[in-house]
Amino acid sequence: MKLLLTTLLLAGGLLPGQAAPLRTLIIDGQNNHDWKGTTPVMKKALEASGLFTVEVATAPGGGGPELAAFKPDFAKYKVLVMNYNGAMWGDATKKALEEYMSAGGGMVVVHAADNSFGQWPAFLDMIAVGGWNGYSDKSGAYLRWKDGKQVLDTQPGKVGSHGAQHEYVLDTRAPKHPIMAGLPAKWLHASDELYDFMRGPAKNATILATAFADTKFGGSGEHEAQLIVIDYGKGRVFHTMIGHGPEAMKCVGFITTLQRGTEWAATGKVTQKVPADFPKADAVSLR
Ligand code: ZN
Repeated sequence: MKLLLTTLLLAGGLLPGQAAPLRTLIIDGQNNHDWKGTTPVMKKALEASGLFTVEVATAPGGGGPELAAFKPDFAKYKVLVMNYNGAMWGDATKKALEEYMSAGGGMVVVHAADNSFGQWPAFLDMIAVGGWNGYSDKSGAYLRWKDGKQVLDTQPGKVGSHGAQHEYVLDTRAPKHPIMAGLPAKWLHASDELYDFMRGPAKNATILATAFADTKFGGSGEHEAQLIVIDYGKGRVFHTMIGHGPEAMKCVGFITTLQRGTEWAATGKVTQKVPADFPKADAVSLR
């Protein structure tokens, strides 16, 4: 029997009651950030949960015919993790992503992945808000927390910014959402960029956590959305603005919300326990 089980496991078979691993695709290849450093960190974090099998699709550089031909088979995966910030994809690939998400796909957007595709309206609908490349005040409003609730701030102004890197507190705003359930109301994130002045349509978007972008670090002086979930058709998106580089990704708060957000985007549920080394309101926790 033991031999049989081993053989089954080696063949990719499952034990009774064991869920199939969630097939996951990280997409990278162009990014003004250290994608060669961050993709392995995220792959390792996801695999450490025991829930995911992770593959990587690396887009070619530039924006020529090779990129136009870049077309991962999205439908093979339960969830996509976007670590791509670069040239626009070909029309067939864009259409395939829209169809995959509309039909119930899952997507996780990490940090600078929300800098790309600013002139692709469906992508804006998927990510709620973004900044920099191709974004303008025509992209939509700022997504912020004011007077105890989520607001779309339509005042004119810049699009996409961050001050100096520093440690900052994440404030949970949707404690009952599966990704956030059991997490503390406040936790201190490792030194990182704090994205602010991000704009977009923010349709069907729910803020899970914000951070206060203190003006003393060059921030907006507002409580800015940092962790967001978005419904797109039948699909689910988890958008995390934290995680500038491998150092910031050592934060157990980043790792845990990535693991939980990816499971939720894949399935709509979270089965993972909150780890004992999760950061406290006044203490960063690194792995
Ligand atoms: Zn960054």
